[in-house]
Amino acid sequence: SSPQLPNIAEAILIDAPGGADDMYWGTRDVPTLSDTEVLIKTAAAGVNFIDTYQRSGVYKVDYPFTPGQEVSGHVAAVGAAVSEFSIGDYVATANGVNGYGQYAVAEADKVFAARSDLDPVTAAAFPLQGMTAHYLINSTFKVEPGMTVLSYAGAGGVGLVLTQLLKAKGATVITTASTPEKIELAKSAGADHVLGYDNVAQQVRELTNGKGVDVVYDGVGKDTFEESLNSLAVRGMLVLFGGASGQVPPLDPQRLNALGGLYLTRPMLAHYVRDRQELTWRANELMESIASGELKIHIGQRYNVQDAAQAHRDLEGRKTTGKLVLTFQS
Ligand code: NDP
Repeated sequence: SSPQLPNIAEAILIDAPGGADDMYWGTRDVPTLSDTEVLIKTAAAGVNFIDTYQRSGVYKVDYPFTPGQEVSGHVAAVGAAVSEFSIGDYVATANGVNGYGQYAVAEADKVFAARSDLDPVTAAAFPLQGMTAHYLINSTFKVEPGMTVLSYAGAGGVGLVLTQLLKAKGATVITTASTPEKIELAKSAGADHVLGYDNVAQQVRELTNGKGVDVVYDGVGKDTFEESLNSLAVRGMLVLFGGASGQVPPLDPQRLNALGGLYLTRPMLAHYVRDRQELTWRANELMESIASGELKIHIGQRYNVQDAAQAHRDLEGRKTTGKLVLTFQS
């Protein structure tokens, strides 16, 4: 590592699984790098649901824990075996650690060069939710023109990107939102039908002449899973990609048979950025669409990193639209 680096730096910390209020601003050692890792001086960090799952103990992590997988910034040091990046490069990642701290770390394989025409907030706002929307519709289930898709939370971070990418593919998009403002925002992204959360399957049947949809992208989970199963066409696919309302209980496979030979999958981003080629394909396509203005990244809320607890309360409290970004003074 580089001689100019400090030994300790400031970060959001939590000492045990807990609530948003248990996070505090403190100091921790600047991480030492393995041979294959990159140290990033954080410019901005994206807030994601996974940060709340890790904070609360749904996913196991080591303590003291600093949340934050998604960051933009400049490379501050590289491991001995890293050849793709040099100190000073402008980069971003969706799969780092310590993002809510002044220094984040990521495997070089999960880091990509950020376009210089993207500001740091935008560069931290699109990687995780953007690449998720990208893999869901290009790789988990390949959406073709003319297909009809159901997704939820159409005013959310993933939801707004998903709708725009689906419309660009020529699909019909049915989504949900919980307030009049969110309904308007979801429509402005191009959604064809924006429903409330009641009787979704019945409304989907009406909108599809009884047929059901080709694919459901369900990131809400516990509260919507049954409606998702009941909204699908014969041989349709249910892509369960999150649990904003809680995790889904176990399922008897015979139900997939009874409902029409359905497919069920539960993917995550890490399975879809397995190598540098796959990562840069997704990241570069998204950055090109953002730079051209074709894809809008709606940054609904910005917070100073010290106020990360408020960001978590807002996200979990269903109060946000689009992306939440933490910014750093430097
Ligand atoms: P969002 O911005 O979509 O926020 C979540 C939204 O879900 C809320 O704003 C709310 O919208 C809706 N919602 C419905 N019910 C609830 C509830 N009970 N509590 C809270 N929110 C609820 O978040 P993200 O875009 O960051 O993530 C969406 C989902 O996608 C999450 O479950 C996340 O874990 C998952 N995800 C999965 C990835 C993967 O690779 N598997 C990667 C990235 C995200 P409304 O009020 O309109 O209903």
